[in-house]
Amino acid sequence: MKNNNNKLLNQETLCIHAGKAKGDHKGALTTPLYQTSTFVFDSAEQGAARFAGEEEGYIYTRLGNPTTRELELKVAALEKMEDAAATATGMAAVSGAVLSFVEAGDHVIVSHAIYGCSFALFSHQFKKFGIDVTFVDMANKEALTAALKPNTKLLFAETPINPNLVVLDLQMIGDFCQQHNILSVVDNTFLSPILQTPVDFGIDIIIHSATKFLNGHGDVVAGIIVSSKENIAVIKSTILKDIGGTISPHDAWLILRGLKTLSIRMERHCKSAQTVAEYLHQHPMVKEVFYPGLPSHQGHKYLNNQMRGAGGVIGFELNGDVNTGRKFINSMNLFSLAVSLGDAESLIQHPASMTHSPYTQEERLAAGISDGLIRVSIGLEHTDDIIADLAQAFAHIENVTGKA
Ligand SMILES: *Cc1c(COP(=O)(O)O)cnc(C)c1O
Repeated sequence: MKNNNNKLLNQETLCIHAGKAKGDHKGALTTPLYQTSTFVFDSAEQGAARFAGEEEGYIYTRLGNPTTRELELKVAALEKMEDAAATATGMAAVSGAVLSFVEAGDHVIVSHAIYGCSFALFSHQFKKFGIDVTFVDMANKEALTAALKPNTKLLFAETPINPNLVVLDLQMIGDFCQQHNILSVVDNTFLSPILQTPVDFGIDIIIHSATKFLNGHGDVVAGIIVSSKENIAVIKSTILKDIGGTISPHDAWLILRGLKTLSIRMERHCKSAQTVAEYLHQHPMVKEVFYPGLPSHQGHKYLNNQMRGAGGVIGFELNGDVNTGRKFINSMNLFSLAVSLGDAESLIQHPASMTHSPYTQEERLAAGISDGLIRVSIGLEHTDDIIADLAQAFAHIENVTGKA
């Protein structure tokens, strides 16, 4: 399959075929795993030409690998962008995308509600290197405009926001960044390119924790940065090469395998999460459900324009205190008590004490993450079984607390 035909193909087909190097790999149907650290040159001249960039070809796996390359081209095609750089973790994608374009003295604007370690990176690590960071509520255009400084270089956001699923207006953010000549970076982990392609709204750089939906099988930590050829060339020839957060070819190979089923997995995640969200919404022991598929949720108006689906993650609050939540989580049977999301297994976790513990309580409350919030990632099990597990946990806390 030639890459220049990608735009003619649908995403379901791209998941399976995009990025495959035609004619390579001795005719193998699937992408072989090039588990090699280095590549042998035919001659001293060839080695020199590759280092000088005068000849295409592989040098050393930190700089590039044929298995990794197919992953990069596949995700780039799915995001409708030119190129990509795969990384060792999602956090290597966040740090790589930002550090490649920002230096001491620059200012960046960051959504006040983001993944916990992204928050820690921006609020604690970058400070050490003289990068000025302003956190704002990006649902508020005035707050965004007020954060602007003459040295603002980059904006970083994620949508839907983890874990309360607040949806940001990507068109507004894309327009704002273009108007002020700011590089925009969006974390698209929660929806995957099947449900949202931020480039449609003028976003410059998209990052993913490939650990989550892209791989989908809970056996890899990895990330990817997607952008123009020019931006990816900068990332690969500077921060990724010299700081070294390159993906392992074995992990790239596992993600390529996972990606073949991405579109059908996302379809099922959305359908099941909708059923579960509706169940939780009507339950008397639930105070509030955060899921864009529910008409009561702030993000619902973005469905079918910005987002092609509401995704597989639901936040909800129980009536009761932190102990009620703990008892609930501890009585799950089918759900695994684990952070991460986007796996075949349904997962449950408590953001305030787990994924969002890098925030102080004050910062967390300002970002809309209450102490009682529970986050579930709805897996690929039958929804009857998922709901039965939730129902027995509700029955358990009802027995303990004696109230519905
Ligand atoms: C998990 C996650 C990350 C970090 O990815 P790792 O692969 O764990 O390094 C970043 N952003 C979001 C939204 C995530 O869910």
